[in-house]
Amino acid sequence: MATLWLLGSQCSFRQPWFEEIDKKKDHILLIEARSRSTWQQYHKQKLVLVFSIMRHFKAELEEAGFSVDYRQGDSFEEELQKHINQYKAKEILIHQPSDHRMERQIHSWKNKQKDVDIRMQEEGGFLIGRPEWEDLLPDNQKWQMDKLYRKFRTRFDVLLTNEGKPLGGKWSLDAENRKPPKKGLDFPAPAWPDQTTITKEVIADVEQHYTENYGSIDSFRYPVTADQAEAFLEDFIKHRLPTFGDYQDAMIPKDPFMSHSMLSASINMNLLDPLDVIRRAEEAYEDGHAPLNAVEGFIRQILGWREYIRGIYLRKMPEYRNVNELDHHRDLPDFFWTGETKMHCMQDSIGSVIEHGYSHHIQRLMVIGNFSVLAGFSPQQVSDWFNEMYIDALDWVVLPNVLGMALYADGGLMSTKPYVSSGNYIHKMSRYCGDCEYSVKDKYGETACPFHSLYWDFLERQRSRFEENPRMKVMFKHLDNRSEEQVQQQKETVDLVFDRLKKGEL
Ligand SMILES: Cc1cc2nc3c(=O)[nH]c(=O)nc-3n(C[C@H](O)[C@H](O)[C@H](O)COP(=O)(O)OP(=O)(O)OC[C@H]3O[C@@H](n4cnc5c(N)ncnc54)[C@H](O)[C@@H]3O)c2cc1C
Ligand code: SF4
Repeated sequence: MATLWLLGSQCSFRQPWFEEIDKKKDHILLIEARSRSTWQQYHKQKLVLVFSIMRHFKAELEEAGFSVDYRQGDSFEEELQKHINQYKAKEILIHQPSDHRMERQIHSWKNKQKDVDIRMQEEGGFLIGRPEWEDLLPDNQKWQMDKLYRKFRTRFDVLLTNEGKPLGGKWSLDAENRKPPKKGLDFPAPAWPDQTTITKEVIADVEQHYTENYGSIDSFRYPVTADQAEAFLEDFIKHRLPTFGDYQDAMIPKDPFMSHSMLSASINMNLLDPLDVIRRAEEAYEDGHAPLNAVEGFIRQILGWREYIRGIYLRKMPEYRNVNELDHHRDLPDFFWTGETKMHCMQDSIGSVIEHGYSHHIQRLMVIGNFSVLAGFSPQQVSDWFNEMYIDALDWVVLPNVLGMALYADGGLMSTKPYVSSGNYIHKMSRYCGDCEYSVKDKYGETACPFHSLYWDFLERQRSRFEENPRMKVMFKHLDNRSEEQVQQQKETVDLVFDRLKKGEL
């Protein structure tokens, strides 16, 4: 008789141990541990997501004939022990989680067990197995997502001709994913699932027990079962995938969803299998329903970026958590939790995180991430914020995306140059600037867009590191072409920006 202990992000019949367990004699253990939910001060919707998925899965397991021990308590360790005592369990089956801290906790608990046989195997939910990452990301080579993506396209036979070449002649159609938002651009609203009775109960519990946590809760609408996630995927494929490619990088105020899928939480929480999602998108291309730039762009995110990100985490933890190559230490301002800032782009991008636990990739990278690196915020405070506030955040996906991709805190493991820009990029790719208290046209002075002066200041601060970078030569040429008067005005403006930041007036 064995017990399969499933973590909150492993609630799926596709998890590998299901192939071995016997529902007539084995048990399933699920634990809602308060200690885990207070590791950080998570957005309320994130707690609702995890608990609701677990409670729904309990019901599904019981309906399928499994015996379930569902526990709520202070810690995993205590509840595990109680389960072992009560069920006289001799064998515990666990899926090795990707999360480093959780994995360490399990190992430390495992080492203390004398009378229980503990068997572990890797958790499902990824296309590439753990042991492979050592070879895929070797120490003596520069790591590149593009190369791996090609390999994975070939291995899984995705969007290939009969000769094994990429459909459309190119492996990546990234250049066709960058249309700015034209006037009047609008997208079909996502068909969010209704809140179930279980979800409503969870919301009430979270409201009662996590009063100090941030984020609005009533607008919770994410899928909490595999069926709901399946329907949500269908809706995306049908209505938004066709325009995903063109407007992947565009931003519109008050619409964080646009053509995006909002499937990250469902995939990360194992409600959906990533390969199934990829195949569905591929079918949409084959049926003539969605163009290649949309389908390839979408598949690249899952087959390329998502796997690569996990590979980096597995290869680089635990030291990765503390990287700070640019030596940034400024504290994160309060407006990250309130959204109260005069910068329209930041206010809207953070506002949607408070409201939905979500903003899309370019808002994360080129607005919030960009501002954070330009202002020199502590990378660890920024990654904590992302970890706490996003519905799809799990440590393995947050750290490489935030510390590596957005903040360059790992010194360029993931990119040859930092993703930094002045306000001009935001102006080009969004409709924020027309409705902002700052003017994107003003470079200096009281009304100047803060991104401009912070950008020049960043380049000055980091000159010795980036001046010789071939991809940044043009930036430094612009910097050095400024007159003395402009340099002086720039200095005064950036002092003003930092002063306002400090006083909470930015
Ligand atoms: C600073 C920063 C923080 C991020 N934090 C997270 C996070 O906590 N959780 C998370 O899942 N993603 C994170 N990402 C990656 C990406 O922004 C989100 O996966 C995506 O925005 C989720 O929204 P969506 O489902 O609508 O994605 P879509 O735009 O519809 O993309 C499709 C899918 O591709 C996958 N994907 C796309 N980009 C990435 C990526 N860089 N890494 C991993 N998967 C990717 C996701 O599964 C996503 O659902 C972060 C990116 C940045 C720059
Ligand atoms: S003017 Fe600057 S701060 Fe305002 S929305 Fe544009 S980029 Fe953002």
